[in-house]
Amino acid sequence: MSENKVALVTGASRGIGKACAIELAKAGYDVIVNYAGNEEAANNTVKEIKDLTHTNPVAMKFDVSNKEKVETAVKEIIEKYGRIDILVNNAGITRDGLFIRMTEDAWESVINTNLNSAYYVTNPVSKIMIKQRSGAIVNMSSIAGVFGNAGQANYSAAKAGLIGFTKSLAKELASRGIRVNAVAPGFIQTDMTKDLNTEKIIELIPLKKLGTPENIAKTVKFLAVDTDYITGQVIGVDGGLVI
Ligand code: NAP
Repeated sequence: MSENKVALVTGASRGIGKACAIELAKAGYDVIVNYAGNEEAANNTVKEIKDLTHTNPVAMKFDVSNKEKVETAVKEIIEKYGRIDILVNNAGITRDGLFIRMTEDAWESVINTNLNSAYYVTNPVSKIMIKQRSGAIVNMSSIAGVFGNAGQANYSAAKAGLIGFTKSLAKELASRGIRVNAVAPGFIQTDMTKDLNTEKIIELIPLKKLGTPENIAKTVKFLAVDTDYITGQVIGVDGGLVI
């Protein structure tokens, strides 16, 4: 059992999820660093957290798009830690392409990993939070889910779905002391965006720079830890790209 509060961050081996894991650990949470396959990166995240904090992070491999694997993992977390105070549904992938050429596989894998995963993970975790009568959930949406993006019909559909999910769940769970919010990042420097032509993108961003994973992590920590009166909101962290 954990003396600290516990946070589960999906897709925390790299990028935005890693920064969220570090930020929440700095706030005193024992963080479960979920990942899909990149064990070395996940272990590095855990090591960085241990070097920076006195918390007890652990790397945990499970595929968020696999309902059975998620259920087993959540059971293990509860056996080991006894509670889950924060859930960050962050794991995500892209498989971009024009819609007329989009394969069913590209559609399904993106919907499964970015949207169905939120159902698979949040369903068992919210039951635990309901028993605790407290908890905070943050879903990682995207500017693509707010405004759409050519070449990302699958991804935009999933990220827009997360926004509807966030608002509905916020209404259902508020009376149980559980808040549910979403963050909609713009263009953030991670492996996901490393092949983009950033010069052209930066021209479009009012603040004239890409975001960092830490920009997103600070917002996630604000929503999950620092406030207790915000729920059902989608916070854009995009350098002004949507204005
Ligand atoms: P990233 O650098 O590509 O990292 C993706 C993370 O998700 C990795 O930790 C990866 O684990 C994990 N992951 C992927 N599929 C998984 C699965 N099936 N089960 C469990 N974990 C899985 O991505 P990122 O840029 O940090 O993006 C994080 C989130 O922010 C995503 O939801 C993304 O859609 C969203 N977002 C990103 C941007 C951006 O500009 N980067 C903008 C808007 C929204 P492994 O290391 O094991 O592969």
